[in-house]
Amino acid sequence: MSKLRVTVWNENLHETRFQEIRDIYPEGIHGCVAGFLKDAGMEVSTATLAEEEHGLTQERLDNTDVLVWWGHMAHNDVQDEIVERVYRRVMQGMGLVVLHSGHASKIFRKLTGSDSELLRWREVGEKEILWVMNPAHPIVQGLPDHFILEHEEMYGETFIIPRPDEVVFVSWFEGGEVFRSGLTYTRGLGKIFYFRPGHEAFPTFFNENVQKVIINAVNWAKPGAAMPKVTLGEIKNPIMPIKDAKENTLAQLNVYKDEE
Ligand code: ZN
Repeated sequence: MSKLRVTVWNENLHETRFQEIRDIYPEGIHGCVAGFLKDAGMEVSTATLAEEEHGLTQERLDNTDVLVWWGHMAHNDVQDEIVERVYRRVMQGMGLVVLHSGHASKIFRKLTGSDSELLRWREVGEKEILWVMNPAHPIVQGLPDHFILEHEEMYGETFIIPRPDEVVFVSWFEGGEVFRSGLTYTRGLGKIFYFRPGHEAFPTFFNENVQKVIINAVNWAKPGAAMPKVTLGEIKNPIMPIKDAKENTLAQLNVYKDEE
């Protein structure tokens, strides 16, 4: 079987601007995520905001089975044309794994139709416990029923999003809030997973359980069957003879306006 082709997209601004963040992620968050996905046997490339077309050319996307997305402070700098391109690929079946603040990215908001930047947040490095909601879900295989991140940014309900297909994780935070932190959606033929942790100021993506979730999610989100080729409005011969077939005598019903 050929390897799963993954592209890891990162804003890559915190890492290039702040030494403190570079100390945590010397190769950038994209470098860290790409590293453990490669170790899991995937064919991985990376793309960043500063690259031409944000590194997401049509050719790159056509050769991507699953796109991983991390963005935080520059969602509005992502060109609409590229968002549209990613959107079309998801509709055609490309998987999308959206991390942390990616809930407010143009692509996640377009796909879910949400004002998903709306939530509570607090950045004091408190403890987060992620609880598995469905132990049978492919994304949680190999995980314990809960795991702990000692320091994370807090996201709290109410999280204004459309109802997901499935809630895979719920997080508890030291300060008392809870959050739906692992969510699945289907849009067109594409599978989408949103995973909450991953604030840049903490080494979250080095956590073994976080890595397992992302590896599982990429495997889960890979494309299934291809979209059948259907021409809009095409009239097919019936596959079985139609008894008492009748001509449409109300053909005028299909005419919206009289021709000039
Ligand atoms: Zn954050």
